[in-house]
Amino acid sequence: MQDLPTYDDVVAAAARLDGHAHRTPVLRSATADARWGAQFFFKCENFQRMGAFKFRGAFNALSKFDAPQRERGAIAFSSGNHAQAVALSARLLGMPALIVMPLDAPAAKLAATRGYGAEVVQYDRFTEDREALTQRLARERGMTLIPPYDHPDVIAGQGTAAKELFEEAGPLDRLYVCLGGGGLTAGSALSARALSPSCEVVGVEPEAGNDGQQSLRAGHIVHIDTPVTLADGAQTQHLGTYTFGVIRRHVDGIDTVSDAQLVAAMRFFAERMKMVVEPTGCLAFAAACAAAESGALQGQRVGVIVSGGNVDLARFAALLAG
Ligand SMILES: *Cc1c(COP(=O)(O)O)cnc(C)c1O
Repeated sequence: MQDLPTYDDVVAAAARLDGHAHRTPVLRSATADARWGAQFFFKCENFQRMGAFKFRGAFNALSKFDAPQRERGAIAFSSGNHAQAVALSARLLGMPALIVMPLDAPAAKLAATRGYGAEVVQYDRFTEDREALTQRLARERGMTLIPPYDHPDVIAGQGTAAKELFEEAGPLDRLYVCLGGGGLTAGSALSARALSPSCEVVGVEPEAGNDGQQSLRAGHIVHIDTPVTLADGAQTQHLGTYTFGVIRRHVDGIDTVSDAQLVAAMRFFAERMKMVVEPTGCLAFAAACAAAESGALQGQRVGVIVSGGNVDLARFAALLAG
């Protein structure tokens, strides 16, 4: 195991991302501020390249490859945003990428990943071991495996979004972050500790999959079955060694929200802020709304990381209509 990433790694990642990642807007909502008597600062990674913050971590990790690694390229397994993040980063850096995706991955995701120039290898989720397949392909082709969250360079890259938020908004009382495997939450916490030391950092996961909350309470990584939730980017079964290492030191708490709360947050973003946010990207704001409803955020300056906007529009419409 390498050392846990630090804020210095986030700063180095920001330099690598400069000119490649979008510096996404920090939006305000007069409606939210008036309704809950707080000041909300929304860091909108739904407007990031490929539609989610995952570009930051993938690009940072791939940028650090040495010459032989660049020549052979990067491999990842993902059916979600990490696939597109690695594919786009590899294309921008001029290296090959191979993405391992399930046979039943949505056609739009397959097309998007291939559209960024990556080769896609598909596997049967029910009969094949994805990790074993990926390891074998990595060995055969000499490619470097980039995991979706449990890697110091990925965590450092993800931390650049919160770094930008603090630089723009100033110190905050509380920061809510969407939590799956914990890369975004760990990176955000590193930035919070450096730039706004007294800011309370709260990771937010789906109620159906609160392995992070259980892990923080237990003091070790708790594994769960794949949770059934609308938040498909947070269907992780456990935190990683690196992400848990950072989270247990620097994160103050983990909240959970229901699917109904996610849809309510999604509706708020659509109606009030005119933004398309995917269900997983609504986790942080859904928890902030719940805290605000209870009066806990009165007078506070509250950061919300809106993590991504990649949702099939038919599904988006159906969720909002339902
Ligand atoms: C991957 C992802 C998450 C979860 O991020 P982790 O680093 O795994 O905790 C949250 N939101 C979106 C949109 C994602 O793609």
